[in-house]
Amino acid sequence: MSEIVRVFLRTIFFVLQFVLYFFSIWSRSVQNLLFPSGTGKLQSFLIQGSGMKFYKPREVFIGGNGNVERIGIGGDNPVTIQTMWKESILDVKENPSHLESIRNKIAELKMLGCDIIRFAVPDMKSAESFIEICKATSMPLVADIHFDYRLALKCLEGPVGAIRINPGNIGARERVEAVVNGCREKGVAIRIGVNTGSLPKDLEERVEKGELSRAVALSETAARECSVFEELKFDQFVVSMKASSVQETIEANEDFASRFDIPLHVGVTEAGPLITGVVKSTLAFSHLLREGIGSTIRVSLSSSPENEVITGLEILRECGKRSGGVKLVSCPRCGRLGFDVHGFMDRWQNELLSMKKDITVAVMGCVVNGPGEGKHADIGIAGAGNKAIIFKKGKIVRTIDMKDADNEFRKELMSL
Ligand code: SF4
Repeated sequence: MSEIVRVFLRTIFFVLQFVLYFFSIWSRSVQNLLFPSGTGKLQSFLIQGSGMKFYKPREVFIGGNGNVERIGIGGDNPVTIQTMWKESILDVKENPSHLESIRNKIAELKMLGCDIIRFAVPDMKSAESFIEICKATSMPLVADIHFDYRLALKCLEGPVGAIRINPGNIGARERVEAVVNGCREKGVAIRIGVNTGSLPKDLEERVEKGELSRAVALSETAARECSVFEELKFDQFVVSMKASSVQETIEANEDFASRFDIPLHVGVTEAGPLITGVVKSTLAFSHLLREGIGSTIRVSLSSSPENEVITGLEILRECGKRSGGVKLVSCPRCGRLGFDVHGFMDRWQNELLSMKKDITVAVMGCVVNGPGEGKHADIGIAGAGNKAIIFKKGKIVRTIDMKDADNEFRKELMSL
């Protein structure tokens, strides 16, 4: 695009933005009128051409009832990290140790950087136990409800952080309305979740005829659900549009963000096993986060919640959305190794990432490159023949027997 066209577009949009702002009519309805569904790319192109940025999600609050921490999503709040509980909830009244182990695991995930955890609540027994879990932790927990709106109403009897529903599978409007009214009364937010597997029939047909991309159909599905909430004058909700394709995830979120100021929960659904899922999530999130899209993220992996949280944390850090904490540097290992880098990282990764220290830790296989490559690290460990060395800022401070590596490393780490 030539410079003249770019300047022309900037001028036009500057004037347009000024006029709309002046008359305070830069509302969603005007945006929708100007940019109906499917024109998100055009709008993004024009907005980028104008050098302006319009999408700023409004603020929605998760938690805040009883003992539960209140977290802002959207607005000027930092991007939050979510994960999902991966086991069935047992009856915690019959199994108090189950409640204890869940509480401990939540505390560990929080130390790693997790802000919110979602639990599947498939029946009334789970709902009762879920309430007890909510009472036992300060982290906002989200009840994931499908089909039966009464489960959502049951969860509202406790300090639930938020309710996640797909209004499309909750059924009749009165049921959705009952959940919305219950949430309004208790000051509980809702997450509306839609995915490519549950498009309305008319949109699915248009996708099949090639009239609409699946991504735009997904965004339009979410828009329809939002209109019901807005008719009910309920604005404390977040939207998620999940596809397992990176491109569809990006396009759906861009299209939606170009039309609404609703905070987006971003995720690539069914992203796959660890490596596949990390690659897909990284591609989608880094693209969207750099555009300012994504107020809360969940990396969906066929792996542990810890790995989901760590991946989310590293993506946010690399995108400049989080700072501080322990930065890990480790070598890939090669034939020169004198130290089991992989084993050491497996043992130490989660503990190091849970520490509230702003330091860099280097773990290197050998002295050939170890201290040199890790010289900017605050602390590091490397193999040296049949010994290990501990170095700080590139200077060797200890030479130790391999069997003492973990203990001696811990002592030096704690002294920082
Ligand atoms: Fe190989 Fe040593 Fe480099 Fe690790 S630090 S990759 S073991 S040369």
